[in-house]
Amino acid sequence: MLRGINVSSGIAFGNILMVESSEIKIEKKKIEDIEAEVLRFSEAVEKSREELNKVKEKALKDFGEDKAQIFETYLLILDDPEFIDAAISKIKDEKVNAEYAFAEIRDSFITILESMDDSYMRERAADIKDVSNRILRYLLNLNYIDLSSLESDVILAAHDLTPSETAVMDKKRVLGFLTEIGGKTSHTAIMARSLEIPAVVGVKNLTKNLKNGDYVVFNGETGEVIINPDNNTIEGYKKLKNDYEKKNKQLKVFIGKETKTLDGKHIELVSNIGTPKDLDTLIKNDAEGVGLYRTEFLYMQGESEPTEEEQFEAYKTVLEKLNPKPVVIRTLDIGGDKKLDYLKIDEEMNPFLGYRAIRLCLDKKEIFKIQLRALLRAGVYGNLKIMFPMISSLQELINAKAVLNEAKEELEKENISYSKNIEIGMMIEVPSAAIISDILAKHVDFFSIGTNDLIQYTCAVDRMNEKISHLYSQFNPAVLRLIKLVIDNAHKEGKWVGMCGEAAGDKKMIPILLGFGLDEFSMSSSSILPARRLINSLNMNEAKSLSDKVLEMQTDAEIIEFMNLNLKVES
Ligand code: PEP
Ligand code: MG
Repeated sequence: MLRGINVSSGIAFGNILMVESSEIKIEKKKIEDIEAEVLRFSEAVEKSREELNKVKEKALKDFGEDKAQIFETYLLILDDPEFIDAAISKIKDEKVNAEYAFAEIRDSFITILESMDDSYMRERAADIKDVSNRILRYLLNLNYIDLSSLESDVILAAHDLTPSETAVMDKKRVLGFLTEIGGKTSHTAIMARSLEIPAVVGVKNLTKNLKNGDYVVFNGETGEVIINPDNNTIEGYKKLKNDYEKKNKQLKVFIGKETKTLDGKHIELVSNIGTPKDLDTLIKNDAEGVGLYRTEFLYMQGESEPTEEEQFEAYKTVLEKLNPKPVVIRTLDIGGDKKLDYLKIDEEMNPFLGYRAIRLCLDKKEIFKIQLRALLRAGVYGNLKIMFPMISSLQELINAKAVLNEAKEELEKENISYSKNIEIGMMIEVPSAAIISDILAKHVDFFSIGTNDLIQYTCAVDRMNEKISHLYSQFNPAVLRLIKLVIDNAHKEGKWVGMCGEAAGDKKMIPILLGFGLDEFSMSSSSILPARRLINSLNMNEAKSLSDKVLEMQTDAEIIEFMNLNLKVES
């Protein structure tokens, strides 16, 4: 038995599919045997051609002619002598390794295509990237598995899975996944919860102990992973799975009920989503809107940034479908564990403290403005609220609002309709923002507290690092005091406060947050009904005195113990 961090509940049984890192790292090397290198390259092109033919056939069968067309285009690129022969000439002329030569040619083609006015040609740049990556993976011997179209039902096991790999996963085929690194609030874990796929991360020695085809059962609630279990164990876990499904069914009585404390205070209970596809689980779990739409997943689905039109359509879909329920859309938060290969951002020593979120957007204003234009336009179709991530000073907030105003002026000039009464908010994720929340509150309509980051920055504990995960706690008194401070400061200015970090859905946190006066709780859709059941059993006065007591406590252990005792009394 192995053990890891339980990040997404559910019991999974199935055969393992090992997933190796798909990151492509290219080094330049001098080559002696030029003929052999050219042959190696030609073989990689040939293998890609065979693979693409197979994918094309499958797409034709599963999705029809329309969707299969793209693979036809890819095959044509492989036949383009200008592209392929240019790489061969470069290998010969410069005596360099095939992957380096080919990547250079790919980049020069992409640069030319991306600078063209014609949008059709610009889109071809993404095709070139995709085809080239296939060839490069063959050259580098990277065992690539397309997670969006799997042949059979599997449990994925990997050293790590990137958020973009998780975003494209074939939900019908992936019964669960296991990784060696990561924590409860790594984005891969967050995605698993919103897709309702059982998952355990931070499992030490996972890849050493598993191989393709091994039969595994694991429990996403306890973090236990059993390799090749005996019949008795399988039976035991089958019973657990039944109990788990029964408990979920019982929660259904809370569908359609208002979220209201025993003494009548209404609480906004909303969902975190990553793409319009997540609306199905949101609706199934009867959330009262969206408290956090992580737009970066939209940027991870292609080989280049989504256009204004593509973004407009995605935002409009969500807004229209939920109208008049509120939808809080967060502007692009790239960086940290969320990477975009096509932005070519240099590796950093401390990516979570680096070029991330609003910092990147204020630097790459063109990308930011396209998103803001799409948002303003989509605002006409529902109850939109926009918020900025990772604000750490007043100046940053002012700068972000200035770009928003520029986007409005542009639309005005171009006579394009947009919504003029959108609430503007910001996330509180950085301690400096929490500390000056009295100042910031004057400049926004609302705050949303992002505890996933607020905890890591307050306690100096990397949210991705499983080795120090015992230090990462929302019950750390420093974190709780900051949350209370933010709520009080916002309320003094008459502004509302939500929380969209994972702590908002934690059953031990909810009574404390209620007592602090939090107005909106935003969480994975699968946590909505358990949260409603809990809130509907609580009383505001009791929550207030409980949270006052918690604020006097000195350690997270003391607070956790106190909350465990209280929850037992509740049930
Ligand atoms: C947070 O930091 O709490 C948050 C909701 O943002 P993300 O998890 O996307 O960093
Ligand atoms: Mg964050």
